[in-house]
Amino acid sequence: MNAPELFDIIDAAAPAPRRSRQARVVWGSRVVTVGGDAPVRVQSMTNTDTVDAIGTAIQVKELAAAGSEMVRITVNTPEAAQAVPYVREQLDRMGVDVPLVGDFHYNGHRLLTDYPAMAQALSKYRINPGNVGKGDKRDRQFAMMIEAAARYDKVVRIGVNWGSLDQELLAELMDQNALRAQPVDAKQVMYQALIQSALSSAEVARELGLNPDNIVISCKVSGVQDLISVYRALARRCDYALHLGLTEAGMGTKGTVASATALAILLQEGIGDTIRVSLTPQPGEARTQEVVVAMEILQSLGLRAFNPSVTACPGCGRTTSTTFQELAKQIDDFLRAQMPVWKLRYPGVENLKVAVMGCIVNGPGESKHADIGISLPGTGEAPAAPVFIDGEKALTLRGENIANEFHKLVESYIERRFGSVTAAH
Ligand code: SF4
Repeated sequence: MNAPELFDIIDAAAPAPRRSRQARVVWGSRVVTVGGDAPVRVQSMTNTDTVDAIGTAIQVKELAAAGSEMVRITVNTPEAAQAVPYVREQLDRMGVDVPLVGDFHYNGHRLLTDYPAMAQALSKYRINPGNVGKGDKRDRQFAMMIEAAARYDKVVRIGVNWGSLDQELLAELMDQNALRAQPVDAKQVMYQALIQSALSSAEVARELGLNPDNIVISCKVSGVQDLISVYRALARRCDYALHLGLTEAGMGTKGTVASATALAILLQEGIGDTIRVSLTPQPGEARTQEVVVAMEILQSLGLRAFNPSVTACPGCGRTTSTTFQELAKQIDDFLRAQMPVWKLRYPGVENLKVAVMGCIVNGPGESKHADIGISLPGTGEAPAAPVFIDGEKALTLRGENIANEFHKLVESYIERRFGSVTAAH
């Protein structure tokens, strides 16, 4: 096989991107587009009691500062509904224009009707068709929420979750399946129920006058393979923007890896227009960790760039000191800490690539691929650290102060390369 044929095969394997409708989630002059040609958006959710308007506003601000482009808050009681406009007001006062999404279950129809200031302060409503009501109340209560969304021109996420799946629909589909000559697996019926619940609710919402562009769909489950199967099937059956997330992903490494695994496979296939990583915070862990993970998933896939990336080798028997680990962490922490200011001062700095490598084996090669990289001496190597800038060896650092000197070189590189962009504008 010659090289062009091989490249043809690689290109053919690349999935065609899914093009969905585009929703506009608006607050004031801030417009967050979702779907269509918009980048995949990062969402998060607070875990404060919404009645505590100040505490909720502070957490929303933290999540937005971490990079969340929409933040969902719980609206579960009349008191919470009354607090929502105050949360919004506090955020506006702090100059935080991130759109708020209201999360409704059971009584959303009442709250959205009785508290118009809340309905207007939110930019998007999340409605769970499984928690709208039972029997003949269901349609009426769903209609009340959709009418509020249509009245205030809000985006609605019809968010189905297998933990709260419409049990009447599931029972009906199970009965139908039992009557088949060859019944399918119960799991397949559950997948169908999830998708059918979402899509039939969307259909009803359109019939009630909701602009189809204002509909976002999600069908969340907690198993990686289940999520992949459900979203592939869902993506084939509609052109609504899709919100993607593994529900109840869990804590720490398990939750992070499970979310990254599931989301990466679907995002790589062009499925998913907004994402949320539903991590259970570990004791003392910041709520913003879910935003950091979501951003890392998108950046690792090359779908978005949020922060400069630091490539560091894992270390091995060739390097027995921790110098390069410390330097890699220092540089990474430094770049992240500066980003809120640098984003404004140095447009494009999020694309910067830094390498911090442990020895001569891969150090110079990897450093050359980065914008700026350093190859530290491994055990037994000469105590010298060559620095590569834009693929060329620029200088060699020696002595005790290598870390600080490299730090300064990174700063001056950023100023030189990205500072001039500001000057040009
Ligand atoms: S670059 Fe050197 S120290 Fe780092 S993993 Fe490779 S061989 Fe080991």
